[in-house]
Amino acid sequence: MKILVIGGGPAGATAARLLAKKFDVTLIQDKNWDKPCGGGTKTKIFDEMDIPKNLIKHKLSYVYMCYKKEKIKIDLKGENLSIVLRKEFDKTLRDLAVKNGAKLYYGKFKKFEDKKALIEINKEKLLFDYDILIGADGVNSTVRKVLNLPPVPKTITHYARIDKKTDTCKFYFDEELGGKYYAWEFPHVNKTHIGSVDKNSFNNFCKYLNVNVKAKGYFIPTWEEGIIIKKDNIFFVGDAAGQVMPMSFEGIYYAVHSAEILANSIIYNLDYEKEWNKRFYKQFKFMKLIERINQTKLKNLMIKLHKLKKMRNFSVSLWLGKKFKKD
Ligand SMILES: Cc1cc2nc3c(=O)[nH]c(=O)nc-3n(C[C@H](O)[C@H](O)[C@H](O)COP(=O)(O)OP(=O)(O)OC[C@H]3O[C@@H](n4cnc5c(N)ncnc54)[C@H](O)[C@@H]3O)c2cc1C
Repeated sequence: MKILVIGGGPAGATAARLLAKKFDVTLIQDKNWDKPCGGGTKTKIFDEMDIPKNLIKHKLSYVYMCYKKEKIKIDLKGENLSIVLRKEFDKTLRDLAVKNGAKLYYGKFKKFEDKKALIEINKEKLLFDYDILIGADGVNSTVRKVLNLPPVPKTITHYARIDKKTDTCKFYFDEELGGKYYAWEFPHVNKTHIGSVDKNSFNNFCKYLNVNVKAKGYFIPTWEEGIIIKKDNIFFVGDAAGQVMPMSFEGIYYAVHSAEILANSIIYNLDYEKEWNKRFYKQFKFMKLIERINQTKLKNLMIKLHKLKKMRNFSVSLWLGKKFKKD
């Protein structure tokens, strides 16, 4: 069986890597680009998915939650948050797919023609046939567009890299800095990656940090129930399926694991949507509720509750998906 994967980010590269063990897999990646991203992901993903640990640039055991004058330290119960450089991380995942037998082409999916996928490689237009096609081409998925499917719900974010060393991740929940969601600072070797939602909040955030930098706007999915993730022999995964955790906006972990669910569904002939719902639906739905609360006046209460150790432990166990003994 021929499987064509469009997009070699964490979702597409992982799907290609797992499926190449069984099928004839071709992976198409636009270019070796550096995805704008905080690069923060759960450390457990490296063991769970056998990803080389030398990709980890920082291992963090605590983060800060900031609101008004409060700065609450959240103990992550071990070095449970890792930071990767996306260019290196994504390329390594693609290399692992190639190692398992996937054919990798740097080119761009344009449209369908005669039930084949038209890919532009070095200005040459080539037709690729397939039995199954996987759309892992990110939040602005061209595969979705050319199939006339509704786009994934998304919000704009503004992002920049600044010349500053930071020790850990900080999340700012003040409306003027983080708008409807939050603003953030993530350490990245000798730099710090910063982001917020709308341009106004980003500019306020820059003033707050006392930096002068131009932001670029990028979209991030805002997951909602009912996003179409399958149409006939075409499947969507990762950002192209909207699979980003509400509230935390964590996408890497869920892109990789959703790709694993998709690969297993193809290998064992299971219903992808059902399998995904079994694993993640409840968690996504619950976090959507928390996200909505964060957008109301109850935000104040939610932050205050995090002054309580019990609440902090609850949030961390929710995030990591495991329970901790009382300490
Ligand atoms: C500013 C910002 C900060 C973020 N920070 C974090 C964070 O700290 N932690 C976290 O977990 N998540 C974060 N995310 C979310 C995370 O980046 C995504 O959820 C994740 O990258 C999804 O992986 P993916 O493989 O589905 O999509 P992508 O990473 O977007 O990969 C899609 C790939 O498809 C390729 N492609 C696109 N169109 C075509 C085409 N037509 N033909 C061929 N190839 C194509 C692209 O080049 C890209 O490599 C952040 C997002 C943004 C915007």
